[in-house]
Amino acid sequence: MRSPNRVVITEVGPRDGLQNESRAIPLDRKIALVDALSACGLTRIEAASFVSPKAIPQMANAAEVMAGIRRRPGVTYVGLVPNDVGARNAIEARVDEIAVVVSASESHNRANVNRTVAESLEAIRGIASLCREASIPWTGYISTSFGCPYEGAVDVARVFEIAERLRDTGAEAIALGDTIGIANPRQVFETVIEFFHKLPDMPLRLHFHDTRGMALANVIAAIEAGASQFDGSVGGLGGCPYAPGASGNVATEDLVAMLHAMGIETGVQLDGLLDAAWLAEEIVGRPLDGRVKRAFPRPASSQHAAQADYVS
Ligand code: ZN
Repeated sequence: MRSPNRVVITEVGPRDGLQNESRAIPLDRKIALVDALSACGLTRIEAASFVSPKAIPQMANAAEVMAGIRRRPGVTYVGLVPNDVGARNAIEARVDEIAVVVSASESHNRANVNRTVAESLEAIRGIASLCREASIPWTGYISTSFGCPYEGAVDVARVFEIAERLRDTGAEAIALGDTIGIANPRQVFETVIEFFHKLPDMPLRLHFHDTRGMALANVIAAIEAGASQFDGSVGGLGGCPYAPGASGNVATEDLVAMLHAMGIETGVQLDGLLDAAWLAEEIVGRPLDGRVKRAFPRPASSQHAAQADYVS
């Protein structure tokens, strides 16, 4: 089997995960979660979303989260931004990297940000020039890359067209999002092979939701096709409380445990990550989907005191 020696994980739980929680999460809990995640050796953490508090109240205190966390050397803290205002706020809050999102399907983009795909790509040009001025790299996420809740199948040619546009606008990396967890391993394999053929020098990240339990299988298919960067959400945080069956990103600890068992390095300490997963459960007040943590009894000592420093 083809496999890299090392996989780079971007932790998206504090953003993609928490933003879907219906009850308000206090600022200090968000900060504690980000700090628990950086303490276990994760080097890329999407910490906040600089959206309008009117649009997503849960993400209202992005700047306070960034100001309150313990910035660990070597960790890249990513902020998601929807527009120029968000980008300015994110840069002011000293994020290390920016993430922008556009959907591969018109209906999803419309539902998500009330814009056409073309309008979103235009807005991204504005964000890109702010990033360039501030010397901050950005990643272009393409949502619904593998299927759309409104339109069903998504034309993969459209995905690559958007990816090429994002590359030409200055994206440092492209992330293909399986927003509704509908991708299958064959589709992922073929898409990743084609991606590297069409955009050979562009770093690729994969963002798999686990709605149908296929996320880890999709990770393996992507690895077989040459991918080595994945998003994960601690505990499997995410999903929508109003949409039955909606599920978060693949649980980071499940991803890490699988990769380590396969002899692939991640730089993450699994026990510290499990502590973070339990903390995430505590924060949202319900059991999360992650599987590996069920195999380990929670130690009495893991009450989320500050972790020992970890240098990866
Ligand atoms: Zn997502």
